[in-house]
Amino acid sequence: GQCINVCPTGALLEKDNTDEAWSLLAQKEKPVMVQIAPAVRVGISEEFGLKPGTISTGKVVAALKALGFDYVFDTNFAADLTIMEEANEFVNRLTKGGDLPIMTSCCPAWVNFCESQYPDLTKYLSTCRSPQSMFSPIARYYFADKVLDKKPDEVSVVSIMPCVAKKYEVKREELGQDGIIDTDLSLTVRELARMIKSAGIDLENLEEENFDSPLGYSTGAADIFGVTGGVLEAALRTAYTDVTKEELPDDGIEFKAVRGFEGIKEATVNIAGTDVNVVAASSLGCARKLMDELRADIAAGKTPKYHIIEIMACPGGCVNGGGQPFTNGDYEKVKARGAGLYVIDKNKSQRKSHENEDIKKLYDEFLGERGGHNAHKYLHTHYFDKSNPYSKKNDVSLQTN
Ligand code: SF4
Repeated sequence: GQCINVCPTGALLEKDNTDEAWSLLAQKEKPVMVQIAPAVRVGISEEFGLKPGTISTGKVVAALKALGFDYVFDTNFAADLTIMEEANEFVNRLTKGGDLPIMTSCCPAWVNFCESQYPDLTKYLSTCRSPQSMFSPIARYYFADKVLDKKPDEVSVVSIMPCVAKKYEVKREELGQDGIIDTDLSLTVRELARMIKSAGIDLENLEEENFDSPLGYSTGAADIFGVTGGVLEAALRTAYTDVTKEELPDDGIEFKAVRGFEGIKEATVNIAGTDVNVVAASSLGCARKLMDELRADIAAGKTPKYHIIEIMACPGGCVNGGGQPFTNGDYEKVKARGAGLYVIDKNKSQRKSHENEDIKKLYDEFLGERGGHNAHKYLHTHYFDKSNPYSKKNDVSLQTN
């Protein structure tokens, strides 16, 4: 496709993949499934003249159907799934003496930064794939088989992301199998907006539609993935129950200390008598600060300060992603998008990932146990030492497992 210059110096080119999306949609014998990330439903509104933070979920679903996508699903479903796996991994590490802190792995720009600049610390990364890359194998190997009676390569999977780095993530070879890449194409919010406009679809006046089932249902925990601190908060809601076997009270599920738009936010949460120290950082500058501290603590033989570290490369998280409508430096727009996600969470009847009945069914019918064999096959990944850009030899998983 053509390239659109987004950088004043011309050094950074954004690839436009909308042509490839149109080609996939034109293949009538091959159903196309699409997933939209949490931050998309609030980000896209500005492209259509709506106020920043306006919640456009039902209209985006309707627009995607009008564009010809056969199944419109939600990355949120996979965000709930991520929490099931990541909370389980954290609790295992906590109770069985594993590597702590656990570091979140949803943001491909951060993962790449860690692999290239802090390869000695990749063992702390959660082995969970990002929601995008958990969703696609579930669509391809579970939904296509069970519901459509199709083989994994007889369907296409497209993702709509707030992010440019997700285009690189889908190209990671380990996120696929038997020569089939899990996600065919990752588009940004701006690319989707371009497609909607070029098709002459009037998004503002579309009748709202619901996601298709069963990969379209999610709890509020999934929505807040799109804003800094949200993954951490969602993980705590489930990790608490995993450890204590009790539910957090309704007025205790909002972890306010990790909300807000400061670069680094920390809190201590008591879970069954253990003080769990958590921190959420957004921007790679803040990530570097935390990683330098962690490295220094390890070198000095000290116990690392935190149990859980969440890192998002974009200041404020995915609501401020590189694939979102341009803010021209207006951070208030980013805050408004984040506020929109917290409203969606608050209005959901279920707000903890482990309450999602469709996720429970997925484990019963397909995945088996959390952290089990199939979960590892489809939902987890491994990392590489990329400090030497010329060598791909140092597969960290071979050293640590
Ligand atoms: Fe992409 Fe930015 Fe979100 Fe990371 S924080 S996943 S780079 S949009």
